[in-house]
Amino acid sequence: MTVITNHMPTAELQALDAAHHMHPFTANGELSQKGARVITRASGVHLTDSEGHQILDAMAGLWCVNIGYGRDELAEVAARQMRELPYYNTFFQTTHVPAIALAKKIAELAPGDLNNVFFAGSGSEANDTNIRMVRHYWALKGKPSKSIIISRKNAYHGSSVGSGSLGGMSGMHAQGGMPIPDIHHINQPNWWAEGGDMPEEEFGLQRARELEEAILELGEDRVAAFIAEPVQGAGGVIVPPASYWPEIQRICDKYEILLIADEVICGFGRTGNWFGSETLNIRPDIMTIAKGLSSGYAPIGGSIVSDEIASVIASDEFNHGYTYSGHPVAAAVALENLRILEEENILGHVRDVAAPYLKQKWESLLDHPLVGEAKIVGMMGSIALTPNKETRAAFASDTGTVGYICRERCFANNLVMRHVGDRMIISPPLVITPEQIDVLIERATRSLDECHAELKKQDLLHSA
Ligand SMILES: *Cc1c(COP(=O)(O)O)cnc(C)c1O
Repeated sequence: MTVITNHMPTAELQALDAAHHMHPFTANGELSQKGARVITRASGVHLTDSEGHQILDAMAGLWCVNIGYGRDELAEVAARQMRELPYYNTFFQTTHVPAIALAKKIAELAPGDLNNVFFAGSGSEANDTNIRMVRHYWALKGKPSKSIIISRKNAYHGSSVGSGSLGGMSGMHAQGGMPIPDIHHINQPNWWAEGGDMPEEEFGLQRARELEEAILELGEDRVAAFIAEPVQGAGGVIVPPASYWPEIQRICDKYEILLIADEVICGFGRTGNWFGSETLNIRPDIMTIAKGLSSGYAPIGGSIVSDEIASVIASDEFNHGYTYSGHPVAAAVALENLRILEEENILGHVRDVAAPYLKQKWESLLDHPLVGEAKIVGMMGSIALTPNKETRAAFASDTGTVGYICRERCFANNLVMRHVGDRMIISPPLVITPEQIDVLIERATRSLDECHAELKKQDLLHSA
């Protein structure tokens, strides 16, 4: 057998990758021409690639490596758990210590009466659980017609058929027969792109009231739940106007609509609290978790469920579950991650040091000629690139053309910053230091300058 190692030439690894590996969310034909960047190791906030470049990972992988890379404690815990009990399931009246301990810990951390955890292997799986659980909940309450789940355009809730249907990504819905029935999408609170002449707070209220309009139109007796990310992540770190969430909460309360907060990104310190729902003052009935739950060291997700819903669901057999629900190794790793977040007071570091410093630096990017808006909550931020700050114009080129050019400049400058259309986004490890934030901002600024020069050269600095 050929052993494939870090020491192989990059081109050889890229050729093997192109020959056999289908990448998610990638035009694979195009990538195989170009060759994927090969990441070989990581430590703290830095990645190393097969060419020896040190790259500052301002995305924490996919928004998940909250405690940073290279924490031995998690490797030790995983090895110990694999030796003791590498696998057992939690079906059929069985349990094990890692699942018990993690569920108890999550219940302690979660606000209010969110005391019950249904485990999954990922955020997508957890949202699939939520679809079935809220519908089954209403059926058990004698209201089986309450089956519609209201979500938002440009939301991201995962990539399975169920969770992808909840999400509002038109590019995803265009492929493979989504959305499934009884999912209804309302508009997102994206003032920069869609607010027109309306003041931001008024726009926030208007977008929230679309939920009420949808409930009245569809019928209160047909709507089961509303699902939303406290701050939209993959949609471009869209921070809602302050008026938005209080109005959403009022509407959910008034019409007895279950509120599902998708905390997959916002959870576990990203916004400066354990959950984004605390930062944005939301009282959800269910929270979806994944990503930062294990800092990405092991695949695990779940739904944190209120006592009321859990007790109703408990009255019947819930015909649902995953082979890896509460996987012992993943659960043990997640528990160790939570211990580190708590004992090292990483949320305190976010609140007192990293987030205030990053906010000040991030907002200073507004001085750049390309940057029209800079938004940030805790450790997730975005900037909108524009050819005209006054009119908030989009570029005349296809959406994403400019963002991609900027992202390529970031990559060349050893900074991972992602683009969503023509917004640039960051979500760095929570442990990032002020010195490392300086480096992040310096590389981002250089990349923006180079992008600006490139746009001039290609004659792309035009408004749509
Ligand atoms: C990433 C993400 C998901 C999906 O999680 P996976 O683990 O990729 O299945 C769901 N919701 C939100 C808000 C996410 O960011």
